[in-house]
Amino acid sequence: MTAPLGPTLRIAIAGAGMSGLAAALALARNGFSHIHVYEAANDLGFVGAGIQIAPNLSRQLQRLGVWEYMAEDAVEMKEASVRACATDEELANVKLPHVAERYGQPHRVAHRAALTNALYEGCKAAAPSVTLHFGAAIVGIDFANHCIQIRQRDNTEGEGEGHWVDADVILGADGVKSVVRKHMLSRHGERDDAQDTGQSAYRIMLRRDQLLHDPELLAMLDSNSTFRWIGARRHIIAYPISGHKIFNISTAHPDVNFAAEPTASWTTRADKSTMLKMYSDFCPLVRRMLELVTESEVCEWKLRVHHPLKTWVEGNVALLGDACHATLPHLAQGASQAIEDGVVLAVVLSKLTDMSDIHTSLLVYEHLRKARAEFLVEQAAASGRDLHLTDPAAQAARDEAFRQVKHGGPNPDKWLDRTVQDFVYGFDCVDDAEKRYEEVFRLRSDGVQLEGQSACFSRDSSP
Ligand SMILES: Cc1cc2nc3c(=O)[nH]c(=O)nc-3n(C[C@H](O)[C@H](O)[C@H](O)COP(=O)(O)OP(=O)(O)OC[C@H]3O[C@@H](n4cnc5c(N)ncnc54)[C@H](O)[C@@H]3O)c2cc1C
Repeated sequence: MTAPLGPTLRIAIAGAGMSGLAAALALARNGFSHIHVYEAANDLGFVGAGIQIAPNLSRQLQRLGVWEYMAEDAVEMKEASVRACATDEELANVKLPHVAERYGQPHRVAHRAALTNALYEGCKAAAPSVTLHFGAAIVGIDFANHCIQIRQRDNTEGEGEGHWVDADVILGADGVKSVVRKHMLSRHGERDDAQDTGQSAYRIMLRRDQLLHDPELLAMLDSNSTFRWIGARRHIIAYPISGHKIFNISTAHPDVNFAAEPTASWTTRADKSTMLKMYSDFCPLVRRMLELVTESEVCEWKLRVHHPLKTWVEGNVALLGDACHATLPHLAQGASQAIEDGVVLAVVLSKLTDMSDIHTSLLVYEHLRKARAEFLVEQAAASGRDLHLTDPAAQAARDEAFRQVKHGGPNPDKWLDRTVQDFVYGFDCVDDAEKRYEEVFRLRSDGVQLEGQSACFSRDSSP
């Protein structure tokens, strides 16, 4: 596709995370040639963690032409095992081959760095249309004059200073702590309150050589399965990544450490003994697994979300990814939705024929994306509530529901539920944007206030 305004439109993106890199790449592939990505960090800061690559994500990565960069790292998941934390009893075993049959792509998992790297390689190959600026933090926005203030880490610009850069479109892809969102809200006298979920997560990786002595754990590494152990207020999910060379473990539990010592940072090196204590009532298999972690390699993330925003758009500025729909990881859709935002923005901006329509086009983007992304934020939170139940009677009912999954019952672990999967995986956001752009644009141009409804579900029939 060649966008009519491709040669002229100047696009500034705050943040080279999942959504920023995906937006830059998708825009370049659609013919835009002035895309500048400003990243506050000095590099991409590859985090040691796994990530689930659901069909709706791999579909877009293939469309962006970057799947080949991560294909070797990705591992196809053929089944998912949900287990009781204390006894290791398997409550449900869901076979996943239907995922490829039904949605055209299998369910995969990979190293987070492989995904970031794939998007980065795509952006590098799109030079000179895409320019990445590292150590460049967005510190201010002039909404009326369409320009952003950038503070370069390596120069002498002092606190509160920075140089200004003009842009026709400004995209806030700067994550859950978004500065762009903060400026947007303050224009309306609103405070930017990230919501504390009271949960945090350990991210752990075990190398193959650490498992060699343990046949049971080694078999799990060699399997094509995810393993989820659930218990009151906590769960652990584990799966093999990096071509079965690494066993990735991710947990969720009540936030004790960040709450005790509030810091500006939401990630920290954690103490192994504290982690072992947190899961001391889990079964011996899990405890053996956690014991293998190298002391210095326990990383903890505080899990924060944000209240749904009234709008994602202010003038020619739009938010995407965690900046506007930060989510709990329990549905494994945060990065997928962030990347969907980026590719839909590229479709919408590619339709522009007149600079004066930028704002309306961004409202079309918001309409196409907001309801779907916010619905999945709710589903992730609901899944967490079901997985972390504390009341014994409610737990027993949930576990019985898990046992009934093989007879066609709904799955309390929502990422494994067929109805949720149909909604999440069976949706091609680019096809949807192509189909609906003209109509939504016309209504927006006529000033019609649209209910933020995504075409792919109605709340009455939603899971
Ligand atoms: C424990 C955990 C597990 C997860 N597991 C999964 C999973 O399995 N599957 C999945 O799909 N999602 C998962 N997620 C969610 C996923 O990581 C996020 O939703 C995704 O990274 C959001 O992408 P983003 O581009 O919006 O933000 P980010 O990827 O956070 O990128 C934001 C970027 O903006 C930069 N930045 C910040 N401020 C500025 C500024 N002022 N100027 C310039 N740059 C700035 C940051 O340095 C960063 O590089 C998980 C999250 C957590 C916490």
